[in-house]
Amino acid sequence: MIDTAVIGGGACGLAVARGLWQRGHPVRVYERAMASHLNGHGFLLLANGLAALRRLGCDPEDSRGHPITSVRMVCCTGEVLVDQPLKGAVAMLRHQLLETLLRGAPDQLVHYNHGFERFVWHRERARAVCFQNGRSHRADAFIAADGVRSSCRLSLGCGAMTTPGRVKEIVAHVRQPLLAAELGHRFLKVLDPAGGLAVGLVPVGDGRLIWFLQFDSQRFAVPQPCELGAFLEELIRPFPAVVRHVLGATDPARAHLWHTVDEAPATRWSKGNVVLAGDAAHPLLPFTSQGVNAALEDAVLLSDLLLGCRDPGELPELFDVYERQRRPALLGCVDAGRQMARDFVQPPARRLQLPLMA
Ligand SMILES: Cc1cc2nc3c(=O)[nH]c(=O)nc-3n(C[C@H](O)[C@H](O)[C@H](O)COP(=O)(O)OP(=O)(O)OC[C@H]3O[C@@H](n4cnc5c(N)ncnc54)[C@H](O)[C@@H]3O)c2cc1C
Repeated sequence: MIDTAVIGGGACGLAVARGLWQRGHPVRVYERAMASHLNGHGFLLLANGLAALRRLGCDPEDSRGHPITSVRMVCCTGEVLVDQPLKGAVAMLRHQLLETLLRGAPDQLVHYNHGFERFVWHRERARAVCFQNGRSHRADAFIAADGVRSSCRLSLGCGAMTTPGRVKEIVAHVRQPLLAAELGHRFLKVLDPAGGLAVGLVPVGDGRLIWFLQFDSQRFAVPQPCELGAFLEELIRPFPAVVRHVLGATDPARAHLWHTVDEAPATRWSKGNVVLAGDAAHPLLPFTSQGVNAALEDAVLLSDLLLGCRDPGELPELFDVYERQRRPALLGCVDAGRQMARDFVQPPARRLQLPLMA
């Protein structure tokens, strides 16, 4: 059996680990943050992400996910642009997804406060991973799932992720039981017809909503964290009362300004027995809603390949198989995200061509 070390305890890292530990394979996860710092806000899990979760033995219905069955896009002025059913989508808070992936996990699976420092190499193979806290761990295989600003990716020389995305996103979640009940299972997106500004509201169950505000950073200067409240107040002025109410009820200190990254997938996804996964391999723009879904798909494929591996010498070839299978789909997601971002900042004449997803 291959002994695996996973670096990064986000959705991708925990999903790979789940695929392994529940089949009795040895795996440990090393996460930079303390457990209590891992919350985040939430996402829309789409059919591919939900299928991946089921493959990992998680039941999305049992994990407090909230089905989203329709999407409505309206203009700030109230004109309805799109109103259509959405099949197989579930909204979920990030911490609920992480808890779902950890359900039933062995004690000591995740080692928090373990920030990656470097790999120790010997003859083209990583023998151990060293952490900023002075500890190190030996393993046969290393999964680098340390997110969009991956230090592992840098250390492997697979390309830096430095190009900022033009469209930024502010995201938060709030408790608004009345409005959540009114939205029911509908994802509502409100757009500024001038382009470059939109707000999405997604009910996540239990009277809560995730909201996100997308803005063109060439049209609106990116605020400092301390300016977030005033920035939001200014931008949502032309929006309908429902949007102003939800965003106005949010403590700006709890909203997260997402500095998106607009980069192609890593030039190569593995080196020897170390492989990149999730955002570390392929950061995505927010529009396709594929960040978390693609990360879960990566995890399923990687854990399947590791389960079938009998000899650490096979790892480089297996990781090539993984990259060959996943790269084309991810290139498609990157292109789709870039096209949606272009349409967002400069809306096409026909509104119905606008991107549907957040
Ligand atoms: C705290 C947090 C909150 C987020 N909230 C949202 C959200 O509300 N909505 C949304 O759409 N997306 C959110 N994201 C991004 C989203 O989770 C990812 O885009 C997607 O799930 C892909 O998952 P991933 O596991 O590849 O990356 P991530 O979810 O980013 O996970 C990467 C993990 O690696 C850890 N890590 C980073 N550097 C190191 C290091 N040097 N050593 C060890 N560990 C390291 C991070 O702490 C993190 O836990 C959030 C990410 C984080 C880290």
